[in-house]
Amino acid sequence: MSSLIQARGLHRTFSVNAGVFRPRQLLHAVNGVDVSVERGGVLGIVGESGCGKSTLARMLLGLTPPSAGSIFLAGEDVAGMDRRALARRVQPVFQDPYSSLNPRRTVASIVAFPLDVHRVGTKAQRRRQAIEMLERVGLPARYADLTPGQLSGGQRQRVGIARALVMKPEIVVCDEPTSALDVSVQAQILNLLLDLRQEFNLTYVFISHNLAVVEHIATQVAVMYLGRVVELADTRTLFRDPQHPYTKALLASVLTPDTSLGIPETGLGLSFPDPLHPPAGCPFHPRCPQRFAGCDQVRPELLDTGAGRVACHLYSNATRQ
Ligand code: SF4
Ligand code: MG
Repeated sequence: MSSLIQARGLHRTFSVNAGVFRPRQLLHAVNGVDVSVERGGVLGIVGESGCGKSTLARMLLGLTPPSAGSIFLAGEDVAGMDRRALARRVQPVFQDPYSSLNPRRTVASIVAFPLDVHRVGTKAQRRRQAIEMLERVGLPARYADLTPGQLSGGQRQRVGIARALVMKPEIVVCDEPTSALDVSVQAQILNLLLDLRQEFNLTYVFISHNLAVVEHIATQVAVMYLGRVVELADTRTLFRDPQHPYTKALLASVLTPDTSLGIPETGLGLSFPDPLHPPAGCPFHPRCPQRFAGCDQVRPELLDTGAGRVACHLYSNATRQ
């Protein structure tokens, strides 16, 4: 089967301020990522805060240009595509429904906004389409003229989802879409996303620090660490038989590995390394309970192991011999 969306050798660097009187430094946020998703699939991307997953999401959405590498949509390089044409096919759902919705606009006008931008139909038709989509995501028509401030967090995320779907995209890139919500509401939103995937034949890229969420929704999972994919496998295999020591640590510690959410790290010993100064060799070696001689010198490549792909010398015969 061919991929609907494919990233090949994707890199993104940022020049960052390293402090007063210090030269700016280069942060390699995404460092050679290859991922792809089949039509109808859900690629979960997990990792701690700072691993590059949101930068990868922004590149897939065409919001941040890659420093190197390419993205293909049904085989076509998006670099040559018109921004608007891309936006018709790939739409975002962001983490924070509080800040991603304009507080002064009504719910119907927020959802109709992409239709306004792309000049689809008449104003009355756009409003009707917006209300239909609101109903489809579980918000009755009486919500149409409310503003975001009058809605709960879960209702606001439904508005964000309706806005993404009103253009009938093929791919929805969700960046932590349930992280700002109460646990009880998270499951409702995940199940809604799964229903909509079925109904509209959608393909998702689903970014989350929360492994339980990813296990629920994803068909395939990529685990990222310091800008690289360190393990890639189908969801059942990854959760039943994780291979990379980092994936094992994430699963074993039942932690919420996102320090940006104010949740302290547990289980992985040393804290997340400074992305400006990534460790030599295997980037995970300072925290790895299974490291051995050579791990701090040679960087492991992402290799096929039969049960997925993994970047760890424990699985590359050449280094162990
Ligand atoms: Fe651990 Fe070595 Fe594998 Fe890195 S390459 S994850 S340090 S065992
Ligand atoms: Mg993020």
